[in-house]
Amino acid sequence: MLYSGQAVSANPSPLVPLDANNPSSGSLRLFFGLETAALSEQMVRAGEPPWRGHQVAEAIYRQHVTDLDGITTLPKPLRQRLTNEGWQVGRPRISQVFTSVDGTERYLVQGQGIDALTVETVWMPEGDDGEQGDDGLDAVAAPPNEQGKGWHRATVCVSSQVGCAVNCQFCLTAKLGLQRNLSAGEIAGQVVAVFDRQAVEVGRDRVNLVFMGMGEPFLNYDNFMSAVRLLVEEVGLSPQRMTVSTSGIVPGIERFAEEPPETRPKLAISLNAPNDEIRSEIMPINRKWPIEAVVDAVRGIRLRSRERVTFEYVLLGGVTDQPHHAAEVARLVRRTGLPAKVNLIAWNPGPGIPYTMPRSEAVEAFRRALANEGIPTYLRRPRGRDIFAACGQLKRTVEG
Ligand code: SAH
Ligand code: SF4
Repeated sequence: MLYSGQAVSANPSPLVPLDANNPSSGSLRLFFGLETAALSEQMVRAGEPPWRGHQVAEAIYRQHVTDLDGITTLPKPLRQRLTNEGWQVGRPRISQVFTSVDGTERYLVQGQGIDALTVETVWMPEGDDGEQGDDGLDAVAAPPNEQGKGWHRATVCVSSQVGCAVNCQFCLTAKLGLQRNLSAGEIAGQVVAVFDRQAVEVGRDRVNLVFMGMGEPFLNYDNFMSAVRLLVEEVGLSPQRMTVSTSGIVPGIERFAEEPPETRPKLAISLNAPNDEIRSEIMPINRKWPIEAVVDAVRGIRLRSRERVTFEYVLLGGVTDQPHHAAEVARLVRRTGLPAKVNLIAWNPGPGIPYTMPRSEAVEAFRRALANEGIPTYLRRPRGRDIFAACGQLKRTVEG
């Protein structure tokens, strides 16, 4: 890991240590990112009863309150005192919105004031079909949304780092390099900010989260998992409606295998190639952790009943989309012995990236070839291509 992100909720100190590259930003006292126990601890330190921590958690994680003075369950003098002591809610903020013709929205999200960097979060009403075949959760037709929200279900694509260090040759985010890790509050905060904007009702609305935005979640493991715990325990989401995608960081997958099922999302592996030779070419990380090492680590996970591992496969025209590639992928997936499904993604173009989109006949032939081998295979619909919101296009493209 090149930059040391801070696991805010795991840190007993309320101060968010600074990014060494940005010494001028001062120390911040942020509620957002602390779990209830840590909030209670802070209230006790302030001479208050511990249940004040629950009031803060309820306000910031469930009621979407964004400024300290809006936490009206706290007495006004206490709000004043906490403000004077430098406390703030510190929830990440949507600073810009790009809307696609297909209803997808791409957001630039301002972090917690550690610096001025923004990350990207994507809202996809009706999802992108990547969740098909998951646990039968979406097998029944979604009931019409009674609140007239204009969508029946939705997927939020969440970022875990600013930029990415992994350097996959086909991905626009890679061009940024890694700028810094996001804190747990910045990862979970993207979700709460989007829920606030879209008036999502937790427990009622059918919303899936995919940690497939900018960055490699397993190279920011502690903050990523702290964010998941916040989303499960504080916001009230089910980990079975969350999927984390990794390029195959083996030590991360091994740690993930140790996580308790109550807070472990589902796993997707960016396979993207039929063999080590091609994979090493398009994903240099494969030289460090080749396919078999990744699959071995995945075998260590105790899957829930009916849970499947997703293999994501980006189809690059001429490079990974040929019929003999499909046959090889089918053999590879079968050999893993894992309950698996394959999500195909037609490559989304980006400036300066030397690949071509697969032809639609090649995509369909690839899908059919895998399905004929008995492998559940789904095609991810590209969402928000016109606003650079689709997979692999996240690069803070302000021109949108
Ligand atoms: N870093 C993680 C998660 C973010 S990328 C990972 O790589 O798994 C999410 C998915 O988008 C990955 O499966 C990745 O292979 C895919 N992807 C990257 N660039 C793409 C592009 N230009 N077109 C289509 N999919 C792309
Ligand atoms: Fe990073 Fe994922 Fe893009 Fe690879 S595909 S560079 S791991 S964001």
